[in-house]
Amino acid sequence: MITELPLGYWNPKNELMPREELEALQLKKLRRVVERAYHKSPFHRTKFDEAGFKPEQLRSLADIERIPFTTKEEWLQEQQRHPLFGDMLTTSPDLAIRYHSTSGTSGRTPLRVLDSIRDWQWISDMWGYAFYGFGIRSTDIVYLSFAYGAFIGFWGAHYCCEKLGALTVASGGMSSEGRIKQILELGATTICATPTYALRLAQVASEMGIDLAKDSKVDKIILSGEPGGSVPSTKRLIETAWSAKAADTAGMTEIGTLVVFECSKQPGGTHIIEDHLIDEVIDPKTGGKLGYGERGERVVTSFGRGFIPLIRYRTGDLVEKVPGTSCTCGRTFDLYKGGILGRVDDMKLIRGTNVFPSAVEAIVREFEAVDEFQIALTREEGIRDEITVAVELKPSFDDQFPMLSVELGKALAEGHEGLRFNVRLAERGSLPRFELKARRLIDKREV
Ligand SMILES: [Zn+2]
Repeated sequence: MITELPLGYWNPKNELMPREELEALQLKKLRRVVERAYHKSPFHRTKFDEAGFKPEQLRSLADIERIPFTTKEEWLQEQQRHPLFGDMLTTSPDLAIRYHSTSGTSGRTPLRVLDSIRDWQWISDMWGYAFYGFGIRSTDIVYLSFAYGAFIGFWGAHYCCEKLGALTVASGGMSSEGRIKQILELGATTICATPTYALRLAQVASEMGIDLAKDSKVDKIILSGEPGGSVPSTKRLIETAWSAKAADTAGMTEIGTLVVFECSKQPGGTHIIEDHLIDEVIDPKTGGKLGYGERGERVVTSFGRGFIPLIRYRTGDLVEKVPGTSCTCGRTFDLYKGGILGRVDDMKLIRGTNVFPSAVEAIVREFEAVDEFQIALTREEGIRDEITVAVELKPSFDDQFPMLSVELGKALAEGHEGLRFNVRLAERGSLPRFELKARRLIDKREV
């Protein structure tokens, strides 16, 4: 375990820039990206014209609110209208060097994205902010535990490591057992994984008689793909299982890279890479702007994506912005307190109480005996909504369920204005395990 991570900046000039200068830089870049979209992408031109917006109206940063929002639905519809990529490319598809898409599970058409050479350089540069900022250096051996498919995942991280000069180990198509053996054999110092998979690897290692905390050289873990990286109890479990420091990051297919990262000071939140993005927080119902400390939907504008512009895109992520001064690292970049808190539409209303899966996870993970869990929402007798948490226990905790169910039920109720949760014991191995994005909530109320 590293006791203190080194403090460092990938791009010190911009990361430490006074806010006023940073905002002037954002305005300059915003104008450029909007001009380009208006003149090169028919989709954006039509959209802006319909909203009565012209690029020359951007006189200050506040004028960004004149630009209409873009949604994922709109993007998907546009790609269906004009297959494969929609009328939104700003240059010839011949110039593309990469294709990536959303996983397209649940039978939906995937969202398709093309990248140019410049896009791809930018994508790996964005990861540099996170990797260097968390103390990863050329002497590190970075192990990427992901599938290396069409889903963007840690692709950008891979190329970032090459820029850093770190040794990069790709592990697509390998089993968890195979990965663990390789992590030990090569002496990997850094792991990239989803929070769920970082825990899964520790479980599998323990079944193999390996204690990753003692037997591996891993001291840094870069987490992405789920909110767990900023859920304190989940993060603590991961850090203990590996005896390593874990950093939360988050990215998105539409941008092709990460957009927020946790620095080596581990502030319990993630810095927004504000010299490459404008992130706004809005009220998801009214679309109105929210300020520091208010919870709402993240809206992103990217300066780096050239092939397909991304302007005022509604991400559906639930966030709460706080000023850069709330972290001690010196960066002027604002933060999302607690990282991405979940999805705006993940919020469920149960008998008048708001429930977020990430908040339930934070409580469940406080219980050491729990190995895996799942939340189910049901409607009883057609009227009464019930919420049930199914838990699988670790082998040595088998006989503790009666006590645990009472304590867990009580903790869940306390965290949710007294709402009653049912707690059920699930058979070992019966709950799904996840390598990519975990889906631990099933809503059976409308089935
Ligand atoms: Zn910081």
